[in-house]
Amino acid sequence: MSAQPAAGTATPAHPGTTPPANPVDRVLGDLHARIGGEPLTGAVADYIPELSTADPSTFGIALATVQGDVHEVGDTAVPFTIQSISKMVLYGMALEDRGREAVAEVVGVEPSGEAFNSIRLHPERSTPLNPMVNAGAIATTGLVQGADPGERLARILATFERYTGRVAEVDERVYRSESETGHRNRAIAHLLRNFSVIGGDPDDVLDVYFRQCSILVTCRDLAVMGATLANRGVNPITGARALAEEHVPSVLSVMATCGMYDFAGQWLHDIGLPAKSGVAGGILAVLPGQFGVGTLSPPLDAVGNSVRGIRVCRALSEELGLHLLDPPRPGVAARGTAPAPAASRRRRTGAAEDALEGASQRILRQRPQGDLTFAAAAAIARSLGESCPDGGSVVLDLSAVSRVDGAGAAILCALGDTLAARGVHLLVCGAADHPRLGAEIERRADAGDAAEIDVRGDAEEALEWCEDRLLGQLGVIEDAAVPLGSGELCRRMSPEEVADLRAALEDVAFAAGEVMIAEGSPSDHLLVIGSGRASVTTTRDDGSRVRVLTIGPGMFTGEVGLIDGGPRSATVVADTPVTAHRLTREGLARLSDDPALRTRTLLLLNVAESLSGHLRRATALLAAGSA
Ligand code: GLN
Repeated sequence: MSAQPAAGTATPAHPGTTPPANPVDRVLGDLHARIGGEPLTGAVADYIPELSTADPSTFGIALATVQGDVHEVGDTAVPFTIQSISKMVLYGMALEDRGREAVAEVVGVEPSGEAFNSIRLHPERSTPLNPMVNAGAIATTGLVQGADPGERLARILATFERYTGRVAEVDERVYRSESETGHRNRAIAHLLRNFSVIGGDPDDVLDVYFRQCSILVTCRDLAVMGATLANRGVNPITGARALAEEHVPSVLSVMATCGMYDFAGQWLHDIGLPAKSGVAGGILAVLPGQFGVGTLSPPLDAVGNSVRGIRVCRALSEELGLHLLDPPRPGVAARGTAPAPAASRRRRTGAAEDALEGASQRILRQRPQGDLTFAAAAAIARSLGESCPDGGSVVLDLSAVSRVDGAGAAILCALGDTLAARGVHLLVCGAADHPRLGAEIERRADAGDAAEIDVRGDAEEALEWCEDRLLGQLGVIEDAAVPLGSGELCRRMSPEEVADLRAALEDVAFAAGEVMIAEGSPSDHLLVIGSGRASVTTTRDDGSRVRVLTIGPGMFTGEVGLIDGGPRSATVVADTPVTAHRLTREGLARLSDDPALRTRTLLLLNVAESLSGHLRRATALLAAGSA
């Protein structure tokens, strides 16, 4: 059945006076009203007799985003035959069925500069110039796999259904009309058979070609098909894959260079969107990564493109600045604050802390934001390379990066190499969300050229590693057991006072992994670490655990609860076997008897000093925005 709208069904953009509430509908509605109000020029195609019955006033615009939102105005549900727009589907199928090389054997990718029905073939190779003209599409039809013409058509229809998300059917009247009159296409097919571009019976190939030209679509279908290409081959509404991801750039490329017949150069120049038009008056245009547009208006210009369709795409492109080759501003790509010295949350013994502070320029961190594409990665690599001294460590935190593309991944791996040559260790964290980087690291490992990149879970882990490395470089031994009197709880105490305190303490030991203090439990003691290392962790709002700090010999923990008596605010877990001294509330009370009063006073002063140290660090972290 030929689906022709009754005369006068073109709907006004804003029926009545209420404009649409959705802003995109509004933009499209205004466009539809404006262009629909301009005098109608051009002529409805009549070389396929059945097409001449189309209502010239039919006018629809649909836009589908990669998020799967569809915006429609005007006659977007009117079915019409897809005609040449199907050429992009067939080219994609040929690539999938036969592979890039086999397809290149039978059809080129050069713009013909001629009409869609040109009979000219490549002068030396005798193959069609590109898959977007009839000769090329007849060739790609011949490449579609299938035991017989029926099976080939069935596979084409099934592919259409993945693109549009609805049942595809052929308009029998248009098909018969074209089949009865398509002598020029018949001549092309026989010419292609003569040069063995197609095999078998050319009429079999032609029959499938004519039928798939007559598949019925709506503007909405075209928009969704375009959105599918924009979405790297996956229909954003149904989630079905219509085209293998690897072939999407090929299809979009020939659309960009050859999709609009001998208007293709001007189209790309002025409008800058890969597109394909058909003689029934449809145009499908794509903004890769963003959306697809479908328009329908049957009157065509001399070249064979829909007059109003071109106007719509031109206005969209010009007014919204959508030209593909109007490049994004360089600054929109990943940018980061300059690489800066950074420290972990780990608390260290006084000597270690002093040593790290004195050499703070030797550990740098950078946390870029946005897309890490070629230029952005190059800029980050340069600034990191320039600011880090030889032998230092660099933490590149990718947790705020939205995407690492192939170029970004290659540049980061090369950065690892150039830094390693200078003794600089590159640690990358937050890489889990960036498969391209993982793939590049793997690819290099497979090629026997391991990337000098140390992938870490998070910045905290990476920074601690850098600090350990730096302390090693500086010869500071940190983990040695610290006698009670040299620890931070006994500052300013005389040996007698230390002995007083010692008498109030109990010795305890913990195995690695053992909980030393449990969050929420009642507070009744403080722990002074003699040897080993422990992590203080707390629970985030989302239930996950986060390490607040790591403590080691000479430090104490649990003082907050000892002072305020409230439930434990954090969990302390032994990272290694730990020996410690426990000061209970009773032990503290015993110290209040004169002459231990001075011991108690000094102890409380030391606890206060430690708390104020924590507070200062927390304030500094907040100020740095990384708390
Ligand atoms: N079926 C039409 C033909 O082969 C398709 C051409 C077109 O839409 N430009 O002539």
